[in-house]
Amino acid sequence: MHGFTYTALFALALLMSLAAKFWLATRQMRHVAHHRDQVPPAFVGTVTPQAHRRGADYTLAKGRFGLLATAFGTLVLLGWTLLGGLDALNQALLDTVQPRFGSMAYQLALLAAFALIGAALDLPFEVYSTFRIEQRFGFNRMTPGLFVSDLAKNTAVGALIGLPLAALILWIMGAAGALWWLWAWVAWALFNLVLLVLYPTVIAPLFNKFEPLADAALAARVQSLMQRCGFAAQGLFVMDGSRRSAHANAYFTGLGAAKRVVFFDTLLQRLSPGEVEAVLAHELGHFNHRHVHKRIAGMFAFSLLALALLGWLSTQAAFFEGLGVTPNLQAPNDALALLLFMLALPPFAFFVSPVMAHFSRRHEFEADAYACAQASGQDLASALLKLHEDNAATLTPDPMYVRFYYSHPPASERLAALPAANP
Ligand SMILES: [Zn+2]
Repeated sequence: MHGFTYTALFALALLMSLAAKFWLATRQMRHVAHHRDQVPPAFVGTVTPQAHRRGADYTLAKGRFGLLATAFGTLVLLGWTLLGGLDALNQALLDTVQPRFGSMAYQLALLAAFALIGAALDLPFEVYSTFRIEQRFGFNRMTPGLFVSDLAKNTAVGALIGLPLAALILWIMGAAGALWWLWAWVAWALFNLVLLVLYPTVIAPLFNKFEPLADAALAARVQSLMQRCGFAAQGLFVMDGSRRSAHANAYFTGLGAAKRVVFFDTLLQRLSPGEVEAVLAHELGHFNHRHVHKRIAGMFAFSLLALALLGWLSTQAAFFEGLGVTPNLQAPNDALALLLFMLALPPFAFFVSPVMAHFSRRHEFEADAYACAQASGQDLASALLKLHEDNAATLTPDPMYVRFYYSHPPASERLAALPAANP
């Protein structure tokens, strides 16, 4: 294929994904605005008109901001690729780092510089989102000091984990021959498995405190539930989510001995003991149905395909030239190929996201059904409503938008599915 073919394919995917994103976002905003003043019939009596309007306003504010972020992200993507940003960065590092420190240092410098510039470009959006939008709706608890310390910690953790991993992958790319992508995939898969153990036990505690449930009566109640479900007795933690945000949540994560259910303290404060038990039962449903395993298997399959594709693309000079980069003659092209691939993939992968979202929503229904069998469906329903209201999630999303983006089914669908699961 010629360079122009790559340019055309990339431009086409970018335009189509952009059109789809704007179409979906405007649909969602129109739909939410249209239903702003009318609580849906199923929720009349349980959700106040004020709470409903607040959910609509929050969704609209995030939607408008999302459109701006998408437009900016597209400009940045074009800047890196067709407009020559990555090429310029590459040439600069090739001239300065490569002669003095060698090929590996040059390649790592390229990856690090790219990541740092990208993070710096995203920073204003993160600041605005946290200190304007979240603040305006009363969700933000983050102080500027904490924001800066998070940023520093994130950068340090990213460098500590990212640089050795990148060095390993680059070494494999250079040393393992034509099938390097298969070995790189093995390394990547192992790294992800290790991360699933390290993240909950080592990394997350750098940012938050995780403690066992303090309330003894409640603890006894959830112990018996966990025993019934065959889950490790020490697997429930309360996290001080209130340090950063008033948003409430609970999640299930980890692998093997590191698996755990995490409740945000913000959620715990709001729920009755019965509701806590029902939410925990939902999370244990994810454990029982092995949803983490299934998600990992899907991710591994996808990354194998992606790496095989990269294995082939990285040998095509036209792939580099078509996306605005001159391949190196005197240095390895591996880091360059990785970056270019990471830039070019998302517009294509966007059209796969509804499939992921579909499976994710199905897992939520399965976990809800499990929760109804192990605990009270009534309690789960009221807990879900509280979660929705506390997070100002809209009750009236656009159905098409839901299909594309929602990892969790909308409240109306989840609640409607509960009685069937709990006869
Ligand atoms: Zn869930």
